[in-house]
Amino acid sequence: VDLQDLDNAVVDCRRCPRLVAWRESAPTQSRARDEEYWARPVPGFGPADARIAVIGLAPALHGSNRTGRMFTGDRSGDFLFEALYAVGLASQPHAISRDDGMRLTDVRMAAPVRCAPPENKPLPEERDNCRPWLAQELELLRPTLRVAVVLGAFGWQALLPVLEAACWTVPKPRPKFGHGVEVRLPSTDGGAPLTLMGCFHVSPHNTFTGRLTQEMVRHVFRRAVTVADD
Ligand code: SF4
Repeated sequence: VDLQDLDNAVVDCRRCPRLVAWRESAPTQSRARDEEYWARPVPGFGPADARIAVIGLAPALHGSNRTGRMFTGDRSGDFLFEALYAVGLASQPHAISRDDGMRLTDVRMAAPVRCAPPENKPLPEERDNCRPWLAQELELLRPTLRVAVVLGAFGWQALLPVLEAACWTVPKPRPKFGHGVEVRLPSTDGGAPLTLMGCFHVSPHNTFTGRLTQEMVRHVFRRAVTVADD
C-alpha cells in the first residue's frame, strides 16, 4: 500500500452515515446549484516524502468538500496557502481547484476527519471512525516525517492517540494545545523523533479577528522547516 492506494481507498469511505448525508447534501445548499461538488471524503494532499504534516480539522462543506482538495476553495485555505507560499512550501499563493497546478514542497496536508461535518463539528464516534485513515497516512509518511503542525485543539486531541498507538512517546499528562506549543516526541523503536507544533486554526473566526495573523502562521512554518532540518 502506498499513499496513492490510501487516497484511492479513502475517497470511497461511507463509514459515517450522518457525514455521508451531509457531504452529499452540499450542492442543494449552495446558491450556485449547478456547480459540481466533490461531495466525498477528501484525501491528503502533498508529496509522499514530506517532512512536515499539516493536520487540520475536517473539510468545509463549500470548501474542500466542493473542490476535493484539502484547504482548497475557502477562506481558511486562502490564508494557509498564502503563508505556505511565502515561506517556500507551496508553488502558488492561491488555491482554487484540484487542477490549479498547485504543488506543495515538503508538506503533506491531512485531517483527522475526512468528510465535512455539520457546523464543522464532528461527533466523537466520527472522529474515531476516521482515525485509521490518519494512522495509515502517518505510517506511510513516517520514513521522512519529522514535524506535525497541528491547526487547532480538535486536531491536536485527535492526533495524540494516533501517535501513541504508532511509534512515538507522548508525555503524560498529555501536552495541551496552544499556539506556539512545541513538543518533541521520541520514537519508541529507535526511529526519528517527531516534533508536534501547535498553531491556531486558520479559520476566519481566528484570522478575521486578528487572533491569528499571516506572520504568526509563517513563523510556525519557518520554525517547522528549521526543526525538520535539524
Ligand atoms: Fe469515512 Fe472518515 Fe468520512 Fe467517516 S469521516 S465516512 S470514516 S472518510
